[in-house]
Amino acid sequence: DALDLWAQVDDYFAVLAPEDPHLVAVRDAAHQAGLPDIAVAANQGKLLHLIAALVGARRILEIGTLGGYSTLWLARALPPDGTLVTLELDPAHARVARSSLAQAGVGSLVDIVVGPAVHSLERMVADGTEPFDLVFVDADKEALARYLELSLELSRPGTAIIVDNVVRQGAVVDPSHPDGRVQGVRRMVDLLAEHPRLDPTVIQTVGVKGHDGFALLRVLP
Ligand code: SAM
Repeated sequence: DALDLWAQVDDYFAVLAPEDPHLVAVRDAAHQAGLPDIAVAANQGKLLHLIAALVGARRILEIGTLGGYSTLWLARALPPDGTLVTLELDPAHARVARSSLAQAGVGSLVDIVVGPAVHSLERMVADGTEPFDLVFVDADKEALARYLELSLELSRPGTAIIVDNVVRQGAVVDPSHPDGRVQGVRRMVDLLAEHPRLDPTVIQTVGVKGHDGFALLRVLP
């Protein structure tokens, strides 16, 4: 079927986004700790890495750490004095990620902040935190619109924002869909459609993770 073919195509191109032993170890540790299997795929992690490198990111913000798999792809695009702040609600997830990222050699670049991301973001705004160059939003989809508003306050003109899982097997086209995550995406789209400072596009994707997609946004002056 289609999903099978999409997975075969991902497998074929896997040679272009190879996982080294550290990335494999991060995935394995998350699996062994019983974390849900909802990290980005390797080719998506590589895309995050490439975008971070293309924008020359020195400061990266991630919302939704899980076991630190996407975190490692992103952190590897940073210069030695770069910073990645990643926000995670679940202390157990954060523990797994902290240990994995230390073992992968990026522990000193990464700051894992435990707690509800909205609170962590509000605190960073209140503290006058230096703007980020790249933001990756990959946590509870119900709060997407709020995450974008707060990310904007932690951005500068030119900051790139990526939002994962915005297609949800096409469920987003249903205005009365009962899933709160779908409604969270739809509220985000309403916000983006008329936002004067966020310049967005959405790309659908297929592959080992099924039919989904991501939004890429640029922060305007
Ligand atoms: N970015 C990760 C990756 O690709 O490797 C996957 C992140 S996973 C899809 C979403 C994570 O967001 C989970 O670890 C979950 O515990 C966390 N999360 C859910 N609600 C949250 C909230 N309100 N604040 C912060 N993190 C939250």
